Amino acid sequence: MRISTRKGIWIFSLCVSLCAIGLAVALNVVVFPQSILPVTMRGTVAITAFVAMPICLFVGSKMYENQQLSDELQRLVNRDRLTDAATRDFFFAQMSRDQRAYGVSLMVDIDHFKAVNDTYGHLIGDEVIRHVSDILRRNVRSSDIVARFGGEEFVVFLDGHDRDVGFLTAERMREDIAKNGGTFGGHPVKVTVSIGGSLKEAYDTVDASIQDADAALYRAKEQGRNQTVFATPKVLLRDAG
Ligand code: GH3
Ligand code: MG
Ligand code: MG
Repeated sequence: MRISTRKGIWIFSLCVSLCAIGLAVALNVVVFPQSILPVTMRGTVAITAFVAMPICLFVGSKMYENQQLSDELQRLVNRDRLTDAATRDFFFAQMSRDQRAYGVSLMVDIDHFKAVNDTYGHLIGDEVIRHVSDILRRNVRSSDIVARFGGEEFVVFLDGHDRDVGFLTAERMREDIAKNGGTFGGHPVKVTVSIGGSLKEAYDTVDASIQDADAALYRAKEQGRNQTVFATPKVLLRDAG
């Protein structure tokens, strides 16, 4: 049983107390003779209510506190503290739910981020990571996942997108970030990202899809950064082989 609001504590206490009173009334009827029933009934109901209500309120508030803690724990497991994007664990948990998921995996990495940290400090670096996360998230639908993969790297799954639409979405994200560098802690910082993408077909493993996207990201970095590179489609690899 979950109690997730303060109102829930009162509802729980009232329900359990009423049940206890009902039980006490039934016991009264069974145990005492009809003649003294009105007297014993009044006393039993009053005593039961007097005892049950505070106990239920105490138990209810403990259940409420536990629920709050469990929700917070779940949030820490699912949401990244710095960016509020999904965590890597949440990403893999979601992806493992449906092996048939079809869509595009993107690996997104901030360019020359170490220089941002070295020049302006870690706190400004954190702001830049948050900024990039916000832009990625505003460019996806609710069915997509944006997760912080680690450090200044994100993984995105564009649910149901084919290669072409995935590429256009990745480019839209990249351009949005490049255009909206901005000022962080009073410092103008130029921010760009490189993106590697791969199509995940039904029954492809998510690990393989991410590996392909990562290899494509490596090529995007090698070719000069601030660009999107997609893994070669499997059908072309098969034809070449
Ligand atoms: P590249 O263009 O090749 O990606 O170069 P880069 O400098 O972005 O890559 P590199 O992997 O050399 O540096 C990543 C840096 O990210 C190093 C690490 O200190 C920093 N970093 C990792 N996590 C965090 C974080 O949570 N906050 C901040 N501010 N920095 C972080
Ligand atoms: Mg980087
Ligand atoms: Mg990196």
